[in-house]
Amino acid sequence: MPVRKRRRWPINEVLMTSSESHPIVMWELTRACDMHCRNCSIGATGTPGANELTTYEVYKTIDQIDVLAPREFIITGGDPLAREDIAQIINYARRRGLDPALVVSPTHQLTADAITRLERNGLTRIIFNIDGSSPAIHEGVKGTTGTFGITLHAMRWAEQAGLSIEVNTLITRHNAGDLRAIADLIRPMGIKRWNLYFLVPITASNQSAMITASEAESLFGTFDEIQRNETFALRVVEAPHYRRYLLQRNLQTRIDNATVGSWEDFRGYETDDDHPQRDLVASAIDNARGFVFISHAGDVRASEFLLASAGNLRYRPLSQIYRGSDLLVALRDPANLTGRCGRCEFRHICGGSRARAWVTEGNIFADDPLCDYEPGVAMPLQAAAHGHAEASS
Ligand code: SF4
Repeated sequence: MPVRKRRRWPINEVLMTSSESHPIVMWELTRACDMHCRNCSIGATGTPGANELTTYEVYKTIDQIDVLAPREFIITGGDPLAREDIAQIINYARRRGLDPALVVSPTHQLTADAITRLERNGLTRIIFNIDGSSPAIHEGVKGTTGTFGITLHAMRWAEQAGLSIEVNTLITRHNAGDLRAIADLIRPMGIKRWNLYFLVPITASNQSAMITASEAESLFGTFDEIQRNETFALRVVEAPHYRRYLLQRNLQTRIDNATVGSWEDFRGYETDDDHPQRDLVASAIDNARGFVFISHAGDVRASEFLLASAGNLRYRPLSQIYRGSDLLVALRDPANLTGRCGRCEFRHICGGSRARAWVTEGNIFADDPLCDYEPGVAMPLQAAAHGHAEASS
C-alpha cells in the first residue's frame, strides 16, 4: 500500500510579488573563520565544514543563482577569504553577469593585496562589520580584540581600490545606545548602505544580549532621525516590523496633514514599482519572501538564522526549492501565522521574524517577541512608538 506523504505545514500557493520573484540571495560560502565572535550564528570553526561545496559545485551553484535573477547577491561566511578559490569564484560570478557583494571578516587574510586581487577579478561591493563607534564597544560586542583597527584599515584599502562599501552592525544590548555615534564614524567613509541586524538569540549565551520589544520600537525612531541626516541607505534585518513602523509613521504624517482618508491608500505597494511606498520593500528583509539563504553545504533556508532546511541544491535546483518547497511556500503565506502576528493588520507586509519565533517560541509561525504591537490599534503611531523610552546602552 503506497505511503501517503504528510505535509507538516498548511500549504497555500501564494502569488509572488516582483521583489519575491527576484530574491536577495545570501550565500554562506564557508564556515571556516579564524575569529571566535561571541554572537556568531554559524558556530564558525578554523577549518571548512566536511560537507562544504567544492569549487566545481560552487560554479554550479552560481549557475543556479543566476537562474533566479536575484535583485541582490551577497557572499558571506565564516570568512570567505579563507577559501583559496575566492578570487576565481568572484570572477566566475561576474562572468555570469552577477554582481556579488562580499562580507569580509577582520582576519589575517584581510590585506590590501587581497582586496586589490578581488577587485581585479571583478568585485565591486564589499561589506564590513562595525558593532561600535570605539574599540571598546565594537570588541565588547564581538568578544574579540584588535578587530576594530583592522576593520578601519581594510575599509580604507577598499575605498582606495574603488569598491563600494557597506557596513553591517549587529544590534545588541551593548551597542543599542551607540548607533548615532556609529553613524558619525561611518559617514565620512562614503558608505552606500548600513545594514542593521537585530539579534536572533540562536545560542543560550546570547539571549541576554537581545534588546526588548519597546527598545526596538524606540530604535526605529532613531533610524528615522539618522536616515533624515545621511546619504547612505538603511536596511533592517530580522525586524520586518520596521515596515509596520514606517507605514504607521507615514500614515500619521499624512493624517496630520489631512492628505489621506484611511490606510487603505497604501494597499498594492508590493506590486507597483511606481507606488510611493515601494521603499518599504527595501527597508527590511523577510524570511523566505524575497530573500533566500544558502549554507556552506548547499542547504537552502529562509534566513541565515532559521536553521531548518528547505532542501539541498546538490539534489534539487535552487529555483525549485525557493519557489516550491513546502517550508518556504508555507512561510510565505500569512494565513499560517498564529498569535498576534496571525491577527495583525500588518501581517502581509511584515509577518515578524520567523527565525526569532522559532528560536524563542519553538514554533516557526508564532509571535515575534521583538515586536510589541497589539493588533487592532493600528493608529495612532504615538501609542505604538513614541511612548517608549530610549533604548538603553
Ligand atoms: S504583530 Fe507580528 S505581523 Fe504584526 S507588526 Fe508585529 S511582528 Fe509584524
